[in-house]
Amino acid sequence: MRIKKTPVLRHQLLAGTMLAALAVGSSFTVANAAADFIAVNGDVRTVDPNTPRAEAFAVENGKFVAVGTSAEIRALADGKTTVLDLAGKTVTPGFIDGHTHLTSGTDYVTGVDLSYIPDKETWLKRIKEADERLPPGVWITGGGWDYTLKEGKLPTKEDIDAVVKDRPVVLRDIDFHSIWVNSKALEIAGVTAKSEVPAGGEIVLDAKTGEPTGILLEGAGDLVTNKKPAYSDKERAEALLQTVKFANSVGLTGVHDMSSIAAAYDYLKLVEDKSLSLRVWYGFFEDKAANIPAAAKDREAVDSRVAASGETKVKGPLLTVGYAKSVVDGVLSTHTAYMLENYSDRTGWKGEPFQSEADLATLIKAANENGFPTAVHAIGDAGVQMTLNAFEKGQSPGKYPNRVEHIEIINPADIERFKTLGIVASMQPNHATGTIGKYITERVGPERESHAYVWKSLLQHKVPVVFGSDWATSPLSPLTQINDAVFRESPFGLGDGPWHPEQAVTFDEALFAYTQAGANMTPWADQIGSISTGKWADFVVLDAKLPDPVDRSIRKRHVEATYVAGTEVYRAK
Ligand SMILES: [Zn+2]
Repeated sequence: MRIKKTPVLRHQLLAGTMLAALAVGSSFTVANAAADFIAVNGDVRTVDPNTPRAEAFAVENGKFVAVGTSAEIRALADGKTTVLDLAGKTVTPGFIDGHTHLTSGTDYVTGVDLSYIPDKETWLKRIKEADERLPPGVWITGGGWDYTLKEGKLPTKEDIDAVVKDRPVVLRDIDFHSIWVNSKALEIAGVTAKSEVPAGGEIVLDAKTGEPTGILLEGAGDLVTNKKPAYSDKERAEALLQTVKFANSVGLTGVHDMSSIAAAYDYLKLVEDKSLSLRVWYGFFEDKAANIPAAAKDREAVDSRVAASGETKVKGPLLTVGYAKSVVDGVLSTHTAYMLENYSDRTGWKGEPFQSEADLATLIKAANENGFPTAVHAIGDAGVQMTLNAFEKGQSPGKYPNRVEHIEIINPADIERFKTLGIVASMQPNHATGTIGKYITERVGPERESHAYVWKSLLQHKVPVVFGSDWATSPLSPLTQINDAVFRESPFGLGDGPWHPEQAVTFDEALFAYTQAGANMTPWADQIGSISTGKWADFVVLDAKLPDPVDRSIRKRHVEATYVAGTEVYRAK
């Protein structure tokens, strides 16, 4: 008999001696009670309200079977048990990111990731490294550059030409509104100063020479990106696998990922290859109610093939087509977020919704009736309000809650409506800190600024808040996002110190929002999200102990190891 069949319950362990625990199961004997693996001597932040802190835990058949003191857990080991000495380091549950786009960001992992790097010198170094790493002829893609952090002016094609001449380099900026290319990319795409540009786009020209500078705005970027050879199925799967491993390296064991319904099958391929080391609650983009029943068929197909793979027996839940995703407005940086009142820096302009409230309500109704909760991107306060109205009209929530994504500005009166309507607030801390000192005050003015990124107010109104990154628009690292949630400071020293610190959250609140909160919105709430007896053993070991209370030294912390279902899926070299 294995320990899993008669689990030693945590409260029983804590209640007394091993003898007391051994008395629980009638056929439980010392000889065969040993765990596969124990971790001892740690600072374990369980996110389990019954035992928020522990020193140690035991894992058997991929699940936590006991959580307690080092002495209690050591007693569950025998000669065959693997012992992980945590040496006092902090351990958390595996992180769950509530909003990612991994399938569309793979080129940041296979190519170049310049996000969070302020200086051009380092950008060029990374581009050169990619050139040395990638096979000849392969395009160098990716991006994440942001010239406002330090450089103060746009980069040029000559900058890249100095390090990579003989293959195209095409790099998106952090906001996805412009691309930076080298001369080879312009040449292959046949882009010149005279090229015809799609509406709203622009080929930026040098004021002196009249030639393209290497910056293409909005739709003009398509002139080059459309010429890039498409990935084969095999290349796409390989790129996604690398991206999943990157996610594991920052401590993620689960994501709420969003893209087309087709991309769900890319994850399915990884499940069937037995290589998926990340739990994926998948959201498909859909604006038409009529298409929802087809997505329900996809869910059925994916679920049955996941079950047939046998993977969930050993790893626990891995993949399902969980929810529909829709979009009602744009973003504040480009004045496309839909506002109740005019922008402070553009007279007579509030933005416009991308769809009508009635159409959105119809979509929500169809999705909910087919068992799909709906996630709606809404950034401006009018976008958020319209989305809540549509939920009020159309929703028939099933087991899993509907949700609003981003909520960058909110009318204070709408906060309570989240609670009343049972809607989850899905928010990205680094989107707030990334705007400090850059454009948030300009766009909305000092009065509305206090209605921006109101994490604490939502929590005070008992609204479920889930955190995430919206990667690749902000760093995938949960430690970075948690730091941003706790300190609300520009990482680049812009602005004056903490920004509206009244909306900062505690470390424990941020950790919950990055673990159990993400599990609570899925069928897996009782299976993942905390270090609790009976749950799948997903956890993260940091490279040191976090101080109490957590201070700014969290910025120096890294993930040392990540485990999914008790198996190590990442270890820092
Ligand atoms: Zn997104």
